[in-house]
Amino acid sequence: MTIIDLCTTFSSDDRCREMLERLKWPNGPECPRCKGSAIRLITNAKILYCKDCDYQFTVTANTIFHDSHLPLIKWLTAVYLLCESKKGMSANQIKRTLGISYKTAWYLCHRIRAAMATAEKQMLDGTVEIDETYVGGKIKKHRGRSKANKEIVIGIKQRGGDVRFFVAEDVKTGTLTKYIKENVSADVDVIMTDEFPVYPTAIIKAGHGNTPHKTVNHRNGVYVDGDLTTNGIESAFSLLNRGIIGSWHKVNAKHLPAYLEEMQFRFNRRHSKTLFLETLQHMITADPLTYETLTA
Ligand SMILES: [Zn+2]
Repeated sequence: MTIIDLCTTFSSDDRCREMLERLKWPNGPECPRCKGSAIRLITNAKILYCKDCDYQFTVTANTIFHDSHLPLIKWLTAVYLLCESKKGMSANQIKRTLGISYKTAWYLCHRIRAAMATAEKQMLDGTVEIDETYVGGKIKKHRGRSKANKEIVIGIKQRGGDVRFFVAEDVKTGTLTKYIKENVSADVDVIMTDEFPVYPTAIIKAGHGNTPHKTVNHRNGVYVDGDLTTNGIESAFSLLNRGIIGSWHKVNAKHLPAYLEEMQFRFNRRHSKTLFLETLQHMITADPLTYETLTA
């Protein structure tokens, strides 16, 4: 879909809302209270009414759109922009493109991210690569020995498949064990890492004592040895870092997990033709996110 298609298809707030209603209720509007079928109020097309339990509601009530006064076309355009740009888009850019305030743009982006974060995640299988990187800050550090200004991000990637990013406090055995256990399938074929000494123990502790573990010896300048490489996760990291530099300039550590969710959501759907609609689908089912919660 091009931006021209977007503007033509969703030329009015009514058309945006019709799309959201079709996504939310493919079989016609349903009352959120009693699950009965609802009808539209003639006086206000936005409001739906359930005769069974005498209840009025809208398609966006109690969703991520909740309490927003922003026209739906601006919402949908923001979703489109976040979905289409490989590295994401800064709140500043969204502000300029949509002609809204920075605060509105910032809050809007966070709500879209929160909806993306509700997408279901499968365990990673096949050949899995694990690595860590450091993002934000200015001084380059290594292996968390001095992590001032830098946030540790652990990345796990299924070869040819999905990636997961996590903000970690450290790169100790316990931390790595937790993320491997929670994200790598029990019958994974092989796990590939670099020679960082914590991995062998973490992999065993995560229940993969019988899983082959192969290590790339980066210290000796070896990056690819046959099919043995962690280049998959490293290129995902490089996209992440470019996104952070390009869109965020400096990352507020508190919101880094949300940004990682956005990056992995988009990355994992990089070949999808329905990314935009899928994102909207999550938005009309995700719970509201208040500005107060976000800035607390
Ligand atoms: Zn009802």
